Amino acid sequence: KTIPQVLAGTAARFPDREAAVFRAQGIRRTWSEFAAEVDRLAAAFLSLGLEKGDRVGIWSPNRHEWVLTQFATARIGIILVNINPAYRLSELDYALNKVGCKALVTAASFKTSDYIGMIRTLAPELAACEPGRLVSKNLPHLKWVVGMSADAGSGILSFDELMAMGTEEGIARLDAITGTLAPNDAINIQFTSGTTGAPKGATLTHRNIVNNARFVTGRINFTESDRLCIPVPLYHCFGMVMGVLGCVAYGSAMIFPGEGFEAEPALEALEEEKCTACYGVPTMFIAMLEALKAQPRDLSSMRTGVMAGAPCPEQVMKRVNADMNMPEVTICYGMTETSPVSFQSFVDDPTDKRCATVGRIHPHLEVRIVDETGRTVPVGEQGELCTKGYSVMLGYWDEEERTADAIRDGWMHTGDLARIDAEGFCSITGRVKDMIIRGGENVYPREIEEFLFRHPKVSAVQVFGVPDEKYGEIVCAWIIPAPGEDVDPEEIREFCRGQIAHYKVPAHVRIVAELPMTITGKPQKFIMRDQMVDMLA
Ligand code: ATP
Ligand code: MG
Repeated sequence: KTIPQVLAGTAARFPDREAAVFRAQGIRRTWSEFAAEVDRLAAAFLSLGLEKGDRVGIWSPNRHEWVLTQFATARIGIILVNINPAYRLSELDYALNKVGCKALVTAASFKTSDYIGMIRTLAPELAACEPGRLVSKNLPHLKWVVGMSADAGSGILSFDELMAMGTEEGIARLDAITGTLAPNDAINIQFTSGTTGAPKGATLTHRNIVNNARFVTGRINFTESDRLCIPVPLYHCFGMVMGVLGCVAYGSAMIFPGEGFEAEPALEALEEEKCTACYGVPTMFIAMLEALKAQPRDLSSMRTGVMAGAPCPEQVMKRVNADMNMPEVTICYGMTETSPVSFQSFVDDPTDKRCATVGRIHPHLEVRIVDETGRTVPVGEQGELCTKGYSVMLGYWDEEERTADAIRDGWMHTGDLARIDAEGFCSITGRVKDMIIRGGENVYPREIEEFLFRHPKVSAVQVFGVPDEKYGEIVCAWIIPAPGEDVDPEEIREFCRGQIAHYKVPAHVRIVAELPMTITGKPQKFIMRDQMVDMLA
């Protein structure tokens, strides 16, 4: 099915049930109201001259307009381009030009980001142009900028003005246009986090994301009675696919506690909206558990959720089960390129399995763990995780070589190291790119990181390899000391000796105040490696 077909089905089955609540904006909609607004906006896009295959960017925190734009673009086959609300000038420039966005829908500002100001900096011509007639040197494809505030200023169309452009004639044309869309058409471009290099624009189809969404919320047994709290960002597949599309699949209500994540409003939403489920990365759950200590809440309506993005410590899982009344919370593993989820625990998996692994494979996917030569390894052994099936992206936008490298014979080479036990539970053990080969020995950074993390003076640690003439590669560690502690590199090396194999002991230890991170908070080893190579030269 296509995205508009799924929304139409849900709106027909549950017209008067609550569909969406945007608490920061004070907006509540039923499925029939929501579907009607989507049609109005889709007709407005038609009147801008946009059509199937055009790219439209959305740059905004979690707002009503985001979700409307998601479905209105899909209604007529426009490819939605998710732009991270934390992007700054150069990243925005890269994203808009990489995929050639014709229009950009943007919030006015969020946190310290002045979006309209940044667009005006990038396209100074905007001030002198009529909306829709932009001719910009930096952004040659961009014609329309739509601002989510009444007074965005010259050259910019306000979102309300845009909605008003949706005519009855336009709405009458929508079903015919939707009828021409195919499940395998590209409908969404999402950029990867940029943990291992420049972000890549994963191009996804209706079929990719519609199905993945329904399998994610299917595994946590969603029905129209469920009410999901979505504090995770919409620009990411966690919010827009697993959250929004996962709710639309079953007619469950989507509850947005705020534009960004904050523990108090999220807990307030769980209580007041009688939510049954909540999504989050482990750090969000940790913050909510802390806030609960200060102010207890009635969370008797809660049941389940999804925790993803990073490994979850067992203590945190136990407290989420007990203190947040989420005994059925699941963990999952995924990547932007696979729409995203391929492994997820079941609601009744034991707690230790749910913490130590990312659960078991999703329906209709094949999985293999391969060695460097591409051969499948025996059960329980480590290798590169590869997946195949409906969820694999079409490719990276305008990156034929990188696409051919990632997808071979239909198999997505995830670049992640993993092992799968005899019962099918999968553990993620690191990234292939980060594996160090020192004098012929394979060294797995995560193992050394976990060991060094036990040192009382270590607050954060990253281990990676740098080229070496004698050994091919040698092991390096960057360490952030615990607050108020002074650590000597030699002390760290001494801590390792006799405890881990000699070839795993870091040859170089550097004490640092911070680590290079993506804006999504993932440490970027490729930057550490480059800097270390310069320092050692
Ligand atoms: P880039 O591909 O640009 O270098 P990225 O791989 O971090 O960045 P994403 O697609 O956002 O971009 O993240 C997917 C990756 O996140 C996976 O390949 C995996 O390395 C990691 N990951 C996802 N879920 C889990 C999990 N449950 N446990 C451990 N790691 C996970
Ligand atoms: Mg990746």
